[in-house]
Amino acid sequence: MQPIQQFFQLLAVPASVVITTHQKPDGDAMGSSLGLYHFLVKLGHRVTVISPTNWASFLNWMPGCDAVVDFDARRTQALELLEAAQFVFCLDFNTLMRTKNMAPFLARCSAQKILIDHHEEPELAAFNYGISLPGKSSTAEMVYDFIVTAGYDALIDDNIAQCLYTGVMTDTGSFRFPATTAAVHLMIARLKATGLNHQLVHQYIYDSYLENRLRFLGHVLLNRMEVLYEYNTVLIRVPKADLLRFDVQTGDTEGLVNFPMSIQGIRMVAIVIDRDEERKWSFRSKGTVDVNSFARAYFEGGGHFNASGGRSYDDLQTTAQHFLNVLPSLAALNQ
Ligand code: 5GP
Ligand code: MN
Repeated sequence: MQPIQQFFQLLAVPASVVITTHQKPDGDAMGSSLGLYHFLVKLGHRVTVISPTNWASFLNWMPGCDAVVDFDARRTQALELLEAAQFVFCLDFNTLMRTKNMAPFLARCSAQKILIDHHEEPELAAFNYGISLPGKSSTAEMVYDFIVTAGYDALIDDNIAQCLYTGVMTDTGSFRFPATTAAVHLMIARLKATGLNHQLVHQYIYDSYLENRLRFLGHVLLNRMEVLYEYNTVLIRVPKADLLRFDVQTGDTEGLVNFPMSIQGIRMVAIVIDRDEERKWSFRSKGTVDVNSFARAYFEGGGHFNASGGRSYDDLQTTAQHFLNVLPSLAALNQ
């Protein structure tokens, strides 16, 4: 993978561009992709964002979201776009596997691939150009840096600002996590100068629950939360019956994993959800508890030091028991 700076000169000539991101894109995945989309369109490129799967409805308000192609739903169109692309930007993921059913097509695609990402241990050989900085708050911050260091600060407008703000806000837990540096705040100040209404973005993302989602949250915290005080850990198992009972849709489980982190002394939260195709794990931690390595070692996953995910093809109770068996290996939990 060559440094991203080597790519800057290629920005000047209009090209066919695809931007893609990880499956079930979150605020940062969609925000960084659409921020980059608006920027590249302004530069005169022909640009399409392809999402490997559908996404949470609370992202639909984002400018440009209605033009995003869902690979799962519109595979023929997506494959034509990939075929015609000269450049494919890969945002907010570190391994092609994170694009699920798209992965083999991406691997085979002849376009130059450009990585912009902040996850640990990227699969560097899969990309032609790129930048990977695990210390960065979000991929949206990295897209902002990309625009500014390429010399196009003046092109940042309200559309770009709304999208990038969404990415930084969601990935920093509303400017709370340690990666929220002075540079992040300076970036937000610059975005505000475009006239960005940050309160509106908050409302679109966080005040958009349907009743069933809040009742589902209440049910899970009351009935599914196991506090393992010995390990300063919380485990939540969500069976399929709960998803059906509360009509849980894509995105409705997002953020759930953060709630038990507010219990005094808790250093790790693990949640496992019984999805159709797999048991999906999410991990969050504080301080020196490395859930990236943990997810990699035991659950075919990865992510960040304090926030990661993984999967299992065992049934819900088997994978939960596996978690309980390997939990004592995380010595940092008791420090
Ligand atoms: P979440 O729990 O919000 O789904 O994911 C937490 C973080 O870990 C996100 O940055 C996400 O991109 C990453 N992540 C989630 N699942 C996986 C996975 O299966 N593999 C890898 N490499 N990263 C993951
Ligand atoms: Mn991210």
